[in-house]
Amino acid sequence: MPWNCPACGGTTELGYNVCRKCGVARPGSVPDETNFRMEMPMTTTPTFETHTIEAYRGPVFGETIYGANAVIGIRFDYSTVGRSMLMICSSGTAVIANPRTPDTSR
Ligand SMILES: [Zn+2]
Repeated sequence: MPWNCPACGGTTELGYNVCRKCGVARPGSVPDETNFRMEMPMTTTPTFETHTIEAYRGPVFGETIYGANAVIGIRFDYSTVGRSMLMICSSGTAVIANPRTPDTSR
């Protein structure tokens, strides 16, 4: 059963102790630092259901992304190298995405 955030009113699936919209801890939970930290949102889809994309920062291929807080449109590809190695390539579009608030999502 989903739970409602006391700070923003957003709904988050049970199993997550941090609000997916604003990052506030679920009431009654004791989030440790590892679970409380929000990681960079990434998706293979061109949009986020929970975030609004404010700006596009262009294609990204490496591990370091400057001036963005999320990546959309992630694509993975691979090819074999020789008989025993696999080369994996990934690319996406770096964006600035802000959590949707209840007011703007309606
Ligand atoms: Zn919230």
